[in-house]
Amino acid sequence: MLHRSNGASAALRVCALYPDLMNIYADRGNLLLLERRCRWRGIGFGVTASGLGEPLDPDGADLFYIGGGQDRDQQLCALDLAEVKRDALHAAADRGAVILAVCGGYQLLGHSYQLGDETLPGVGLVDLVTVRSVQDRLIGNVAIEVELDPNVRRVLAGFENHGGRTHLGPNAEPLGRVLKGHGNNGVDGYEGVRRANVIGTYLHGPLLPKNAWFADWLIATALGLDAPLEPLDDRLEADAHADARRAAGV
Ligand code: GLN
Repeated sequence: MLHRSNGASAALRVCALYPDLMNIYADRGNLLLLERRCRWRGIGFGVTASGLGEPLDPDGADLFYIGGGQDRDQQLCALDLAEVKRDALHAAADRGAVILAVCGGYQLLGHSYQLGDETLPGVGLVDLVTVRSVQDRLIGNVAIEVELDPNVRRVLAGFENHGGRTHLGPNAEPLGRVLKGHGNNGVDGYEGVRRANVIGTYLHGPLLPKNAWFADWLIATALGLDAPLEPLDDRLEADAHADARRAAGV
Protein backbone atom coordinates (compact mmCIF):
# COMPACT_ATOMS: atom_id res chain seq x y z
CA MET A 1 0.00 0.00 0.00
CA LEU A 2 1.35 3.41 -0.97
CA HIS A 3 1.51 6.14 1.59
CA ARG A 4 1.51 9.89 1.42
CA SER A 5 4.43 11.73 2.94
CA ASN A 6 2.29 12.26 6.07
CA GLY A 7 1.85 8.49 6.40
CA ALA A 8 -1.81 8.37 5.38
CA SER A 9 -2.78 5.72 2.83
CA ALA A 10 -3.18 7.05 -0.67
CA ALA A 11 -6.46 7.53 -2.49
CA LEU A 12 -6.79 9.95 -5.36
CA ARG A 13 -9.78 12.29 -5.20
CA VAL A 14 -10.59 13.90 -8.53
CA CYS A 15 -13.11 16.65 -9.13
CA ALA A 16 -14.27 17.10 -12.74
CA LEU A 17 -15.53 20.58 -13.47
CA TYR A 18 -18.48 20.81 -15.87
CA PRO A 19 -18.07 17.22 -17.12
CA ASP A 20 -21.29 17.48 -19.17
CA LEU A 21 -20.22 20.68 -20.96
CA MET A 22 -16.44 20.55 -21.15
CA ASN A 23 -15.62 17.15 -22.58
CA ILE A 24 -14.97 17.27 -26.32
CA TYR A 25 -12.49 14.91 -28.01
CA ALA A 26 -13.22 12.19 -25.50
CA ASP A 27 -11.63 14.09 -22.65
CA ARG A 28 -13.44 11.69 -20.33
CA GLY A 29 -10.75 9.20 -21.34
CA ASN A 30 -8.36 11.24 -19.25
CA LEU A 31 -10.39 10.60 -16.11
CA LEU A 32 -10.81 6.93 -16.96
CA LEU A 33 -7.08 6.51 -17.36
CA LEU A 34 -6.40 8.10 -13.97
CA GLU A 35 -8.94 5.76 -12.42
CA ARG A 36 -7.46 2.63 -14.02
CA ARG A 37 -3.86 3.46 -13.21
CA CYS A 38 -4.80 4.04 -9.59
CA ARG A 39 -6.91 0.90 -9.29
CA TRP A 40 -4.29 -1.30 -10.98
CA ARG A 41 -1.91 -0.28 -8.21
CA GLY A 42 -4.36 -0.64 -5.35
CA ILE A 43 -4.65 3.13 -4.91
CA GLY A 44 -8.18 4.22 -4.08
CA PHE A 45 -9.94 6.52 -6.54
CA GLY A 46 -13.00 8.70 -6.36
CA VAL A 47 -14.39 11.24 -8.78
CA THR A 48 -16.91 13.96 -8.06
CA ALA A 49 -18.36 16.56 -10.39
CA SER A 50 -18.98 20.25 -10.00
CA GLY A 51 -21.32 21.77 -12.53
CA LEU A 52 -22.85 25.18 -13.19
CA GLY A 53 -23.91 26.93 -10.01
CA GLU A 54 -22.42 24.31 -7.72
CA PRO A 55 -19.93 25.43 -5.11
CA LEU A 56 -16.46 23.95 -5.12
CA ASP A 57 -14.72 22.65 -2.01
CA PRO A 58 -11.03 23.57 -2.34
CA ASP A 59 -10.10 20.72 0.02
CA GLY A 60 -12.45 18.23 -1.62
CA ALA A 61 -10.06 16.89 -4.26
CA ASP A 62 -6.38 16.31 -4.95
CA LEU A 63 -6.80 16.95 -8.67
CA PHE A 64 -9.25 19.28 -10.37
CA TYR A 65 -9.91 18.66 -14.07
CA ILE A 66 -11.44 20.88 -16.77
CA GLY A 67 -11.74 19.47 -20.30
CA GLY A 68 -12.16 21.06 -23.70
CA GLY A 69 -15.30 22.77 -24.88
CA GLN A 70 -17.04 24.65 -27.63
CA ASP A 71 -17.13 28.42 -27.42
CA ARG A 72 -20.82 28.48 -26.45
CA ASP A 73 -20.29 26.07 -23.56
CA GLN A 74 -17.21 27.97 -22.50
CA GLN A 75 -19.34 31.10 -22.20
CA LEU A 76 -21.50 29.44 -19.56
CA CYS A 77 -18.55 27.96 -17.72
CA ALA A 78 -16.44 31.12 -17.81
CA LEU A 79 -19.08 33.10 -15.96
CA ASP A 80 -19.62 30.32 -13.44
CA LEU A 81 -15.89 29.88 -12.87
CA ALA A 82 -15.46 33.59 -12.27
CA GLU A 83 -18.52 34.04 -10.08
CA VAL A 84 -18.90 30.76 -8.20
CA LYS A 85 -15.62 28.82 -8.22
CA ARG A 86 -12.83 31.36 -8.53
CA ASP A 87 -11.87 31.64 -4.84
CA ALA A 88 -12.03 27.89 -4.29
CA LEU A 89 -9.78 27.17 -7.27
CA HIS A 90 -7.24 29.70 -6.06
CA ALA A 91 -7.33 28.15 -2.59
CA ALA A 92 -6.88 24.68 -4.09
CA ALA A 93 -3.91 25.83 -6.16
CA ASP A 94 -2.37 27.58 -3.15
CA ARG A 95 -2.43 24.38 -1.11
CA GLY A 96 -0.73 22.47 -3.95
CA ALA A 97 -3.64 20.58 -5.47
CA VAL A 98 -3.16 19.68 -9.13
CA ILE A 99 -5.32 21.62 -11.56
CA LEU A 100 -5.25 20.21 -15.09
CA ALA A 101 -7.11 22.04 -17.83
CA VAL A 102 -7.28 21.00 -21.48
CA CYS A 103 -7.94 23.30 -24.43
CA GLY A 104 -11.23 25.12 -23.74
CA GLY A 105 -10.60 24.62 -20.02
CA TYR A 106 -7.04 25.84 -20.43
CA GLN A 107 -8.26 29.03 -22.11
CA LEU A 108 -10.34 29.81 -19.01
CA LEU A 109 -7.41 29.53 -16.58
CA GLY A 110 -6.00 32.91 -17.59
CA HIS A 111 -7.24 36.49 -17.39
CA SER A 112 -9.71 36.43 -20.26
CA TYR A 113 -10.93 34.78 -23.46
CA GLN A 114 -11.90 37.33 -26.06
CA LEU A 115 -14.56 36.11 -28.46
CA GLY A 116 -15.31 38.80 -31.01
CA ASP A 117 -16.94 41.70 -29.17
CA GLU A 118 -17.31 39.72 -25.99
CA THR A 119 -14.58 39.23 -23.40
CA LEU A 120 -15.15 36.23 -21.17
CA PRO A 121 -13.57 36.41 -17.74
CA GLY A 122 -10.88 33.89 -16.86
CA VAL A 123 -10.28 32.49 -13.42
CA GLY A 124 -6.93 34.28 -13.17
CA LEU A 125 -4.80 31.36 -11.99
CA VAL A 126 -2.12 32.04 -14.58
CA ASP A 127 -0.84 35.07 -16.44
CA LEU A 128 -2.22 34.64 -19.96
CA VAL A 129 -4.90 35.87 -22.31
CA THR A 130 -6.63 34.09 -25.17
CA VAL A 131 -8.10 35.74 -28.22
CA ARG A 132 -10.42 33.95 -30.67
CA SER A 133 -8.89 34.38 -34.09
CA VAL A 134 -10.88 34.90 -37.27
CA GLN A 135 -8.14 33.06 -39.12
CA ASP A 136 -7.90 29.29 -39.55
CA ARG A 137 -8.25 27.04 -36.55
CA LEU A 138 -4.99 25.48 -35.38
CA ILE A 139 -5.58 21.80 -35.99
CA GLY A 140 -3.36 18.75 -36.13
CA ASN A 141 -1.08 16.34 -34.37
CA VAL A 142 1.27 17.97 -31.93
CA ALA A 143 4.28 17.02 -29.86
CA ILE A 144 5.96 19.12 -27.19
CA GLU A 145 9.01 18.74 -25.00
CA VAL A 146 8.40 19.28 -21.28
CA GLU A 147 10.59 19.33 -18.20
CA LEU A 148 8.26 18.63 -15.29
CA ASP A 149 11.05 17.54 -12.99
CA PRO A 150 14.42 19.29 -13.13
CA ASN A 151 16.66 17.94 -15.91
CA VAL A 152 14.13 15.29 -17.00
CA ARG A 153 12.94 16.11 -20.49
CA ARG A 154 10.06 14.14 -21.93
CA VAL A 155 7.65 14.33 -24.82
CA LEU A 156 3.90 14.83 -24.65
CA ALA A 157 2.09 13.95 -27.87
CA GLY A 158 -1.50 14.60 -28.81
CA PHE A 159 -3.90 16.44 -31.04
CA GLU A 160 -4.94 20.10 -31.07
CA ASN A 161 -7.94 21.90 -32.51
CA HIS A 162 -8.50 25.46 -31.35
CA GLY A 163 -9.55 28.77 -32.78
CA GLY A 164 -8.19 30.69 -29.81
CA ARG A 165 -4.62 31.97 -29.68
CA THR A 166 -3.12 32.03 -26.19
CA HIS A 167 -0.43 34.52 -25.24
CA LEU A 168 1.53 34.07 -22.02
CA GLY A 169 2.27 37.15 -19.93
CA PRO A 170 5.63 37.87 -18.29
CA ASN A 171 4.66 35.95 -15.15
CA ALA A 172 3.73 32.73 -16.93
CA GLU A 173 5.92 29.78 -17.84
CA PRO A 174 4.94 27.54 -20.74
CA LEU A 175 4.32 23.86 -20.12
CA GLY A 176 6.62 23.00 -22.99
CA ARG A 177 8.29 23.80 -26.26
CA VAL A 178 6.60 22.84 -29.51
CA LEU A 179 8.44 20.13 -31.45
CA LYS A 180 5.70 19.74 -34.06
CA GLY A 181 2.34 21.46 -34.33
CA HIS A 182 1.03 24.92 -33.45
CA GLY A 183 0.93 25.18 -29.67
CA ASN A 184 -0.38 28.27 -27.90
CA ASN A 185 -0.64 30.57 -30.87
CA GLY A 186 1.24 29.10 -33.84
CA VAL A 187 3.92 31.77 -33.54
CA ASP A 188 6.06 31.75 -30.41
CA GLY A 189 6.84 28.02 -30.18
CA TYR A 190 5.38 27.58 -26.71
CA GLU A 191 2.67 25.19 -25.60
CA GLY A 192 0.51 25.29 -22.53
CA VAL A 193 1.23 26.84 -19.17
CA ARG A 194 2.55 25.65 -15.86
CA ARG A 195 2.53 27.35 -12.49
CA ALA A 196 3.60 24.82 -9.86
CA ASN A 197 0.84 22.20 -9.99
CA VAL A 198 -1.50 24.23 -12.21
CA ILE A 199 -1.19 22.94 -15.77
CA GLY A 200 -2.97 24.00 -18.92
CA THR A 201 -2.47 22.54 -22.38
CA TYR A 202 -4.07 22.42 -25.81
CA LEU A 203 -3.30 18.71 -26.12
CA HIS A 204 -6.31 16.52 -26.55
CA GLY A 205 -5.65 12.99 -27.60
CA PRO A 206 -7.13 12.21 -25.18
CA LEU A 207 -4.01 13.49 -23.51
CA LEU A 208 -3.47 10.94 -20.75
CA PRO A 209 -4.07 7.65 -22.61
CA LYS A 210 -1.41 8.76 -25.09
CA ASN A 211 0.98 9.91 -22.37
CA ALA A 212 0.62 7.47 -19.50
CA TRP A 213 3.87 8.68 -17.95
CA PHE A 214 2.24 12.10 -17.55
CA ALA A 215 -0.80 10.54 -15.89
CA ASP A 216 1.54 8.93 -13.38
CA TRP A 217 3.30 12.24 -12.76
CA LEU A 218 -0.09 13.83 -12.06
CA ILE A 219 -1.15 11.03 -9.70
CA ALA A 220 2.11 11.12 -7.76
CA THR A 221 2.10 14.91 -7.58
CA ALA A 222 -1.55 15.15 -6.56
CA LEU A 223 -1.02 12.59 -3.80
CA GLY A 224 2.29 14.03 -2.63
CA LEU A 225 3.71 10.50 -2.58
CA ASP A 226 7.03 9.85 -0.94
CA ALA A 227 7.81 6.81 -3.13
CA PRO A 228 7.70 6.29 -6.90
CA LEU A 229 4.56 4.69 -8.30
CA GLU A 230 4.75 0.98 -8.93
CA PRO A 231 5.50 0.32 -12.63
CA LEU A 232 2.70 -1.21 -14.72
CA ASP A 233 2.70 -3.35 -17.85
CA ASP A 234 2.57 -0.38 -20.22
CA ARG A 235 3.09 -2.07 -23.58
CA LEU A 236 -0.24 -0.83 -24.98
CA GLU A 237 0.29 2.62 -23.53
CA ALA A 238 3.81 2.76 -24.99
CA ASP A 239 2.36 1.87 -28.41
CA ALA A 240 -0.27 4.61 -28.08
CA HIS A 241 2.43 7.11 -27.20
CA ALA A 242 4.65 5.98 -30.08
CA ASP A 243 1.70 6.22 -32.50
CA ALA A 244 0.92 9.75 -31.34
CA ARG A 245 4.56 10.75 -31.78
CA ARG A 246 4.70 9.13 -35.20
CA ALA A 247 1.53 10.98 -36.22
CA ALA A 248 3.17 14.24 -35.20
CA GLY A 249 6.40 13.25 -36.96
CA VAL A 250 8.60 13.24 -33.84
N1 GLN B 1 -13.57 26.68 -28.23
C1 GLN B 1 -12.15 26.79 -28.08
C2 GLN B 1 -11.44 27.17 -29.36
O1 GLN B 1 -11.88 26.83 -30.43
C3 GLN B 1 -11.59 25.50 -27.47
C4 GLN B 1 -11.76 24.30 -28.37
C5 GLN B 1 -11.37 23.00 -27.73
O2 GLN B 1 -11.51 22.78 -26.52
N2 GLN B 1 -10.93 22.07 -28.57
O3 GLN B 1 -10.43 27.81 -29.31
